[in-house]
Amino acid sequence: MSLDFLGSLERTNLCGELRAADAGQPVVLMGWVNRRRDHGNLIFLDLRDRSGIAQIVLDKELIPDGHAKGEHVRPEYVVAAVGKVRLRDQDAINPKMATGEIEIEATELRVLNDARLAPFSPAEEAIQNEETRLKYRYIDLRRAEMQRNFWLRHEITRAIRESLSRQGFLEIETPILTKSTPEGARDFLVPSRVHPGEFYALPQSPQIFKQILMISGFDRYFQIARCFRDEDQRADRQLEFTQVDLEMSFARQESVFAVVEQFLVAAFAAAGIALPAPFPKMTYDEAIRQFGSDKPDLRLPGLTDVRAAFSDEAMGTLQIDPALPVVAFRIPNVGELSRKEREENHPIFDATKGAKFIDDFKRLAKSFPEAANKVRELSGAAEADFVIIVAGDPAHPIKASDTKFPGRLSEREINVYSAAGNFRSELAKKYSDKHKAFEVTEQIVAQADPRSGRSFDGAAAFHPLWIVDFPMFEYHLAGGNWVPAHHPFTAPHEADMANLVRDPASVRANCYDLAMNGLELGSGSIRIHRKDVQQQIFASLGIGDDEARARFGFFLDALEYGTPPHGGIALGLDRIVMLLAGANSLREVITFPKTAKAIDLMADAPTTVSEQQLKELHIRVAAKS
Ligand code: ASP
Repeated sequence: MSLDFLGSLERTNLCGELRAADAGQPVVLMGWVNRRRDHGNLIFLDLRDRSGIAQIVLDKELIPDGHAKGEHVRPEYVVAAVGKVRLRDQDAINPKMATGEIEIEATELRVLNDARLAPFSPAEEAIQNEETRLKYRYIDLRRAEMQRNFWLRHEITRAIRESLSRQGFLEIETPILTKSTPEGARDFLVPSRVHPGEFYALPQSPQIFKQILMISGFDRYFQIARCFRDEDQRADRQLEFTQVDLEMSFARQESVFAVVEQFLVAAFAAAGIALPAPFPKMTYDEAIRQFGSDKPDLRLPGLTDVRAAFSDEAMGTLQIDPALPVVAFRIPNVGELSRKEREENHPIFDATKGAKFIDDFKRLAKSFPEAANKVRELSGAAEADFVIIVAGDPAHPIKASDTKFPGRLSEREINVYSAAGNFRSELAKKYSDKHKAFEVTEQIVAQADPRSGRSFDGAAAFHPLWIVDFPMFEYHLAGGNWVPAHHPFTAPHEADMANLVRDPASVRANCYDLAMNGLELGSGSIRIHRKDVQQQIFASLGIGDDEARARFGFFLDALEYGTPPHGGIALGLDRIVMLLAGANSLREVITFPKTAKAIDLMADAPTTVSEQQLKELHIRVAAKS
């Protein structure tokens, strides 16, 4: 069919905004044909733009020409409709549509572009095949749900920007082509054409630069920063992601918390949700003991210490290591599971870390009725709760340190707790429609609509938690030495400074994580600002002078020129949006994400490049897959 020009036509309204009160208004709408219904003399077009859908009526008697065009129009054609808003007949009102009370009586239709038949329609609600969605991402993004996610992302980002600006932070950019940053992941490298054999690294975070900005006197910096880490992909991990990155001078931990709480409350408010602040705090050790995780989901009951339920004899028969923790957790309301159902869960348990579990309660109750009762009692289990006991496995070859350092958990203990914690969160996901603990969050994100101006109470749905007092060092069994648990600029607590060399086990890092609903939203620390402390830390980490110079020489130099005490944090913006969009993968809130195999299916990246390009970059490819 022949296409029309836009000519001098000006759009007057967005499709989704028209209401009964607009009846009688002349309008010009433009958008995509979502659906088309042919009733002979009347053709109905559902016209879609980012705001929603309006129904256009092409009446053969009124506009024979437009009606004739309407016969050829297909889904996803781009059209302009000139006409008048009118009330629908009573029986044609569609209460499910925001614009369901009106329709547009068209006086002119211009077909601005045609469209090939797409592999799926944006009018469909859920498209099963994610690969197709990603390959035809431009079509996928037209879907109402995706439009909403990115609109939400925009509002959240804007609220964070505004909050941080109000709090005196300057938005400052830092380089993308730079030197390796110490976040512990693999770097993406970019070969230099001008310097054969030399490489830039893409930033894993702006860490060193933001600290230098403090040395430069900017006092309060932030950036909505893209970070690059060559890591294996997961639902909550992408090769490139966005952080709300900030750093502040003369800051204590509490100062950072107050800033973050303020901008997160603003971000949630932008999404229509009231988040209570200040957020509670928990030490790392407590989080591990209570939840087996440093990013606990507080919507479900935690772990209970049930050691007291077992006699020595019971421990012996059940082959439970008496020197390690014995904990139980319950997933509410799961009901009785068959042997087969329980067995299907077994692969989820991480058995590599020296822990084992008991999930056959009936059997336990037969041989050790008292223990079984006591476990139920201690963990507060109701009849229908699924109770699982996790304990150390004495038969497991020791692969972790059982060295006990006073006042802290040993690696083996942590392993037992985390095996329980992981099992708990995986089973919680699996049985979510039984325990329904996640429903309150799902309902709130589904209802909250910032456009409505209403605010929903998020207290029951979102559980932020600061995790503090991480150990500064971890014991490395193989090397028999202490290794850093964080990036090497993390300061120890001032009170623990004297123990750095004498008693590294006892040193707490002045760093913190923010967890929410089982996700790590961000982490940060108070930094080392003194050269003597930095040297001590490097020394205790076994980083020699030469290595330190080669890796961060410029930064160590900068530290010597008057560095203020400072600290900061970075929060994953994608994760915040994912939570508030009620999405279960980052791919739902990133426009053009990579697949689990690190491929951009739409752009078809990565790809090989020409010999000429390689030559210019002084690169020879050794093996092609
Ligand atoms: N640069 C750190 C990270 O990306 C955050 C921080 O310490 O501010 O995790």
